[in-house]
Amino acid sequence: MAHIGADEITKLLKQEIENYGNAVEVSETGTLISLGDGIARIHGLEKVMAGEMVEFPHGVTGIAMNLEEDQVGAVLLGEYNEIREGDQVKRTGKIMAVPVGDELIGRVVDALGRPIDGKGAINTSRTSPVERIAPGVVDRQPVKQPMQTGIKAIDAMIPIGRGQRELIIGDRQTGKTAIAIDTIINQKGGDVICIYVAIGQKRSTVAQVVKTLEEAGAMEYTIVVSASASDPTPMQYLAPYSGCAMGEFFRDNGRHALIVFDDLSKHAAAYREISLLLRRPPGREAYPGDVFFLHSRLLERACKLNDGLGGGSLTALPFIETQAGDVSAYIPTNVISITDGQIYLEADLFNSNVRPAINVGLSVSRVGGSAQIKAMRSVAGTLRLDLAQYRSLAAFAQFGSDLDKNSQAQLNRGERMVELLKQKQFSPLPVEKQIAIIFAGANGFLDDLPVNQIREFEAELYRFLDGSKPGVLQMIREKKVLDDTVKGDLSAAIKEFKERFVADRKAAPAHA
Ligand code: ATP
Ligand code: MG
Repeated sequence: MAHIGADEITKLLKQEIENYGNAVEVSETGTLISLGDGIARIHGLEKVMAGEMVEFPHGVTGIAMNLEEDQVGAVLLGEYNEIREGDQVKRTGKIMAVPVGDELIGRVVDALGRPIDGKGAINTSRTSPVERIAPGVVDRQPVKQPMQTGIKAIDAMIPIGRGQRELIIGDRQTGKTAIAIDTIINQKGGDVICIYVAIGQKRSTVAQVVKTLEEAGAMEYTIVVSASASDPTPMQYLAPYSGCAMGEFFRDNGRHALIVFDDLSKHAAAYREISLLLRRPPGREAYPGDVFFLHSRLLERACKLNDGLGGGSLTALPFIETQAGDVSAYIPTNVISITDGQIYLEADLFNSNVRPAINVGLSVSRVGGSAQIKAMRSVAGTLRLDLAQYRSLAAFAQFGSDLDKNSQAQLNRGERMVELLKQKQFSPLPVEKQIAIIFAGANGFLDDLPVNQIREFEAELYRFLDGSKPGVLQMIREKKVLDDTVKGDLSAAIKEFKERFVADRKAAPAHA
């Protein structure tokens, strides 16, 4: 007894005081038990909410994902080299939020909304939680305004409306990203803000996309959110939700936004990785049981709000990469059932130079038709029919069987329609030009032209209409219906041009 010195007493007292503090705060702070693969296990944090942001030392944040009886599992966002076992972890009481607002337009940001384009800080005053409940049934209204992609095959046959969710699905290297980029470029001069979310892609690929958008002047109304393959998996998991929060800002302010998720297959894989590391039980294809919810709660946030809420919209184009065309795998079927239709890109078509490689038979848009302008709807009906007949006949024709005159004509027409729907990259078309060329095809103006002249015919027809008949295009644009006057004028213009076109070819046959 007599040996206890003053020093020791102070030490004991200090310890007691320290521990006393801990005991009180155990609900607010915790201790890091283990750390590995970007997953932290924490003791304490008793009051933490699912999805809450937690603070580690050295400015690292994490998200609490697994709330277990004696510990909390959290994913770390960012570098965690300096964090050690035994470190203190604090609650923040906040759900993860990202900056939102007009200031983000034209910028490239990471999954936390931090700039990664070297163009300085983003001065926004607003933030929005990355996870938000989607608007309810009464807050919405059916889609009614078109979201023009500028791609003939899509706008004519698989039309997308503002607020719709349309899946773009296909194998690797089938032109998926190309469709997104063209759609974004096509919004130039319009009122749609675009958000391109790159998930798990190579940095060089994302840089290429940004460069393409910049060159097309499309970054002026676009936000790029990038969580590349080399970023921590939780960032890839978070990126689509962050992008969605940025898009919701425009939707909720009565404006229009388009969000592209390129792609959700990689997103699902990132989530699977996190879940397995968190020791959640693996299910089908080793994905956790809630992988459907992962995508449904994301895509439900895309919608057209009712007029009382401003009538804004968020249109979503999620991408899925299939393996060898297998749309019946787990993730593809999930996302197909969550979306309002799909655009199916086929490697065979792509390789036989039918680009964009859209399989018209397997692609659908369940709601976009009501958003299509009447003029387009009337010409597109014939187009669909022509193509369907062509497909069934083409199978027969392969056997070399003799076809009657009528069938031969249908085959002929179909071939020209397929040719007419081909479209170069980076050349989205305004709807009136799309209508003009499809009208020409559907009304037999192309039937007697050689197939290999059709694309030339198309390009020159646009030039002719722009130069000599701008009134016709303007009339389609303004009236939005093909009444008898418009039809008459358009037919006359196409006829006039065709005579010239054919005469030119005759004069210089070597060109053909
Ligand atoms: P990945 O699976 O690698 O993401 P992807 O399906 O996104 O590929 P893209 O990168 O868009 O495919 O396109 C693949 C290639 O095809 C690119 O080189 C692109 O330039 C070309 N391509 C895409 N669409 C067209 C088109 N309409 N006409 C000509 N070339 C095209
Ligand atoms: Mg791609």
